[in-house]
Amino acid sequence: MDNCLFCKIVNGIIPSDKVYEDELVYAFNDINPSAPTHILIIPKKHILSLEDLQLEDQDLGGHMLLVAKQIAREQGLAKAGYRLVSNCGELGGQEVPHLHFHLLGGRKMNWPAG
Ligand code: AMP
Ligand code: ZN
Repeated sequence: MDNCLFCKIVNGIIPSDKVYEDELVYAFNDINPSAPTHILIIPKKHILSLEDLQLEDQDLGGHMLLVAKQIAREQGLAKAGYRLVSNCGELGGQEVPHLHFHLLGGRKMNWPAG
């Protein structure tokens, strides 16, 4: 998608602070972190949101979760715990219309989420 911020990041048109990359997934530090560790995990394929994930994306979705777990471990978050969240649509608070998981760690998370 030509006009998508995260597609531009995947393609290197907009710079990012890369944490992880493979053939399906890209992960980078959030530009405006809301926790000591705040990493965005996105599919290289342009998918608007969790709501737009299709049956054909089943392996990709599972892969993203395992990548999130691996990054959490590499970042030293696994023992203390962390949060993985995907904002979906307007009420979910999604601002960038390209599917992403926020990996948050390094502080106590609040619940219920705001
Ligand atoms: P959401 O509100 O769930 O769509 O999250 C979008 C996230 O993208 C926010 O946490 C932003 O801080 C982050 N963000 C926006 N632009 C950039 C960028 N150029 N590089 C890294 N993170 C970004
Ligand atoms: Zn995109």
